[in-house]
Amino acid sequence: MVNRDSVIKTQIELSNLIGVPGHEEEVTDYVLVKLEKLGVDKAWIDPLGNVLAIKEGTNPNGLRIMLDAHVDEVGFMISHVHEEGFLTIENLGGIDKRLMLGALLQFQNDFRERIIGVVGAAPPHVTKPDERDKVPEINEMFVDIGCKNRAEVLALGLDIGSVGTFYTECILLNEETILGKAFDDRTACNVILHVLEELKEVEIPHTLLINFAVQEEVGTRGAIVAGYTLEPSIALALENTIASDVPGVPSQKIVTSLGDGPAVTAADRSLIVPKKILERIKQAAVMGDIKWQYKKPTYGGTDAGSISKTRAGVPSGVVSVPCRYIHANAGLLLIDDILKTIKLVTNFCKI
Ligand SMILES: [Zn+2]
Repeated sequence: MVNRDSVIKTQIELSNLIGVPGHEEEVTDYVLVKLEKLGVDKAWIDPLGNVLAIKEGTNPNGLRIMLDAHVDEVGFMISHVHEEGFLTIENLGGIDKRLMLGALLQFQNDFRERIIGVVGAAPPHVTKPDERDKVPEINEMFVDIGCKNRAEVLALGLDIGSVGTFYTECILLNEETILGKAFDDRTACNVILHVLEELKEVEIPHTLLINFAVQEEVGTRGAIVAGYTLEPSIALALENTIASDVPGVPSQKIVTSLGDGPAVTAADRSLIVPKKILERIKQAAVMGDIKWQYKKPTYGGTDAGSISKTRAGVPSGVVSVPCRYIHANAGLLLIDDILKTIKLVTNFCKI
């Protein structure tokens, strides 16, 4: 029985960490500590920063099943520090510029402290009428962290290359619904940690290969090297995907819906899921009488696409927890969808 309180607590803790591509240490430190108590035989950090772990199966001829979730989130990098103390930023990963004006951001300084700022642009009063309806590019906006000049910024431990993300505290809106940043893909990190908890005392024939992947949002870089290192025979990328069950979206464009359980990918832009992987996922759902849904093709791409092309090829699939407003200031999802995904993936490993 999955511990619901533990899932909620872990979701909040993971969401509040900062882990922008290439700077995921807060998250990788967190999962490494958790892994110590989850019955894996080996866990380590590879040269790129991925956290890898192996849990040996009882049958040397069993499958080598890789479970992958990415630790990074979309964020920003400081590209210029103005003499007046303002920051210019570039996005790392896909972010809708319409979300930016007025957003609160937090930057990580050299000492892992948080520096808060607000995204600004020239006020409408000093903007030409034809410019007022246009959303500036992210690198045309600026961030105000309350510094009077460049020296004050540098003294805070921020400079070109420092990274940040949205400033959002993760909260439960009610018993069912949680709101926070970085649910893509900390939700799936949470799923893997709880799958390992479920399998801690269980002997299974297959060897489990875990990858908490870095740099997914900038080109699935961590997954590529982990696919080579871990030598899986099959792989499952665990994700947090677009729930577009909101007003104004026609049914054929509802990629997934909240409350309909784990979303199973048949194809995305990086991958066409082989039939035998789909069948295994469906069998896992039947075993636990778990409600699931298809993620509509062919939105997005994932680590699974990259893993599938490592070595001689790895049959790979994707299972996602649906979430509204991914890659934004705050995502919203249902605890129940996380719980169902944990059960489905646990069964997938047991078959
Ligand atoms: Zn993702």
